[in-house]
Amino acid sequence: MKKLSEKEIKKVLEKALEEGRKVIPDGHVATYIPQLGLVDPNLLGITIVTKDGDVYSVGDCDTRFTIQSISKTISLAVALELCGREEVFSTVGMEPSGEAFNSMVELDLNSNKPYNPMINSGAIAVESLIIPKASFSDMLLYTKRFCDDMEITIDDATYASEMSHSSRNRAIAYLLQSKDIIKTDVDDSMVLYTRMCSLSVTSRSLANLALLFAMGGVSPKTGERLISAETCRIVKTIMMTCGMYDGSGEFAVEVGIPTKSGVGGGLLSVVDKELGIGIYGPSLDAKGNSIAGKVMLKYLADELELHLFS
Ligand code: GLU
Repeated sequence: MKKLSEKEIKKVLEKALEEGRKVIPDGHVATYIPQLGLVDPNLLGITIVTKDGDVYSVGDCDTRFTIQSISKTISLAVALELCGREEVFSTVGMEPSGEAFNSMVELDLNSNKPYNPMINSGAIAVESLIIPKASFSDMLLYTKRFCDDMEITIDDATYASEMSHSSRNRAIAYLLQSKDIIKTDVDDSMVLYTRMCSLSVTSRSLANLALLFAMGGVSPKTGERLISAETCRIVKTIMMTCGMYDGSGEFAVEVGIPTKSGVGGGLLSVVDKELGIGIYGPSLDAKGNSIAGKVMLKYLADELELHLFS
């Protein structure tokens, strides 16, 4: 990362926000979960937290939004910690699928396990591994601690909205059961998955989570180890290869920061050993990634030299 003064970093962030705002009209908020369709598409915020404890925030950083698919990183981390990598990766793969996040064709036709834990089929399978070992309250507590945000709760309206429009995820869950991948109750896996997606966070909570991954699982604030280094390494690598849906390859080339997106408009980005970045921008591109968030990350990667291979 380029060495810049506090003032210069703030200027870069302001400019990133300006660049991001320009493309908001080119995207759309998600509407397949009706509650997400009610959100103001013009909201945009970014928070950076550094390993030294500096925090930089611009835009709508205090607005709460649902974490959606970004929760898949938390569930994967917890599953790896509680079940071990052998059990996790005998249930779910670690290859990009090249298909949309809610696809089931590749699972139905080509494979006896979901391609990776960042797509819905993989994440629902991961939840089924967690169920015998941790309850939703345990998962909520893990999330609060990982994000250093004790205010995180479930957004009931979004949860109810998604549960009443969940035919596709239910179909995925039943397909998983038909292939003997889910061995616990199908509804339990669906409910835990949807609850995890409905947790409400801010860009700051995501930046804290990203920094925890960046620091190999040791809380930069307390020095306490919350996640093993091995688990963080696996999660970050899978974020890099699979975190931006079927746009992951291009994003890795152009931006080169391991990132996970969610259809709520969040982005979780890890600059290894340096920074955590959290973004909120609910206007999405055709693949489901925050359209302004991607532009802002590209701008930051160029200006601050954050590409993994820069
Ligand atoms: N809860 C959403 C779903 O399952 C998450 C999708 C996403 O953020 O990619 O459709």
